[in-house]
Amino acid sequence: MISRHRLLITDRFDAQALAHLQAHPRLDVKVSATPLPTTDELLGTQALLIRSRTKITTELLAQAPDLQVIITSTSGFDHIDLQATTARKIDVMFTPDANSASAAELTWALVLACARRLPEAGRAIKAGDWARERLIGHELEGKTYGIIGLGRIGRKVARFAQAFGMTVLAYDPYCEDAHFQQAGATRSGLDELLRQADVVSLHVPLTPETRPLLHAAHLTLMSPHAILVNTSRGQAIDENALIEALQDRRLGAVGLDVFAREPLTRSSQLLAFPHVVLSPHLGATTMAAFTKSSREAAEKAIAYLERKEIRDRLPGDAPWLTRGFQKTRD
Ligand code: NAD
Repeated sequence: MISRHRLLITDRFDAQALAHLQAHPRLDVKVSATPLPTTDELLGTQALLIRSRTKITTELLAQAPDLQVIITSTSGFDHIDLQATTARKIDVMFTPDANSASAAELTWALVLACARRLPEAGRAIKAGDWARERLIGHELEGKTYGIIGLGRIGRKVARFAQAFGMTVLAYDPYCEDAHFQQAGATRSGLDELLRQADVVSLHVPLTPETRPLLHAAHLTLMSPHAILVNTSRGQAIDENALIEALQDRRLGAVGLDVFAREPLTRSSQLLAFPHVVLSPHLGATTMAAFTKSSREAAEKAIAYLERKEIRDRLPGDAPWLTRGFQKTRD
C-alpha cells in the first residue's frame, strides 16, 4: 500500500487546483473550515496550503508535529514566522509571481483615483451635486513617479508610469542596476525621491527594516500636492504620522490598500479625509491572481511530494531578508 501525505488547505483555493490535488494518489487532501485550523486538523498534517489569514506562529507549529512543508499562495510572507519555521526545519514556499500584475494594476487604479478625485466625484454626483467646476484634478503626463521597492510589482508599476509619459525614479538599495535599466527607472536616494516625485508608491516587503520605512520626517519632504499610494503593507508607513500629515494638508492625496491594522476599524481617522482613497486589501483580489496562485501552490505541493523539489523558498537569500533576520536577533 502506498503511504499518503496529509495536506491541509486553510483558505480559499481554486476549485480546479483543488481537484488536481485531490486526484493525486499519494495525497490525502483536507480543507479546513476556517483559516484558523484546529489542533485536530493540524495533527498528522504534513503539508499546509495557506494564505495570509493563517498566521504561522510557534504556537501553531507546536500543534503540527508532523508538518514538513508550508506553501502560501501569496507574495507577501509576513504572516509566517520564518525564524520559527527555520528552527523546526520546515520548508516554506510562496507564489511571488502570481499576483504581481493584479497588485500593480490596483496601485495604478489608486493613483488615477487620487489624481482625478474619482471617489469624491462619485459621492458628489450621487448626492445630486454636479461638481464639475470644483473637482479639479492633476494631469500626470510629464510629471515624476517615485517607486520605493523595485521588485516584481515595482517594475510593472514603473512601466505603467512610462506609458503615462512620466519620468520614473526608484529607491531600492538591494536592486541591481540591470533591473533599473529594464524598468526605465533612475536610481535615487529615498529623501531625493520623496522631494522630487509627484506620485510615490511603496512596493517593499514587510521586514524589520521596512516596519516602518516612511517615518514622520520622510513625509515632511514631500510636496503638498504629491500623491502617496501604498499597496505593500500598512506598517511600511508610520500611520499616525500619515494621519498628522493629512490633517495638516501636507499631502495632495493618499491611496491606501493596506493598513497598520486590518480590517480598518470604523473609528479610524483615515476614513474622515475626502482626499484619501481606500480599498480593503484588494491588491491580489482578482480571479486571475487567485487562479494563478492556487495552481502554482498546487504544483509546488506535488513537486515537493514527488521530488522534494523546492521553488521560491522562504527565507530566500535576498540580502534585505538576511539583514532583517540579523536585526531581529539583535
Ligand atoms: P519583490 O520581492 O519582487 O520586490 C520587493 C522589492 O523591495 C525588492 O526589489 C527588494 O530589493 C526591495 N526592498 C526590500 N527591502 C527594501 C528596503 N528596505 N528599501 C527599499 N527597497 C527594499 O516583491 P513584490 O512581488 O514586488 O511584492 C512586494 C510586496 O507587496 C510583497 O512583499 C507584499 O507584502 C506586497 N503585496 C501586497 C498585495 C496586496 O494585496 N495589496 C499584493 C501583492 C503583494
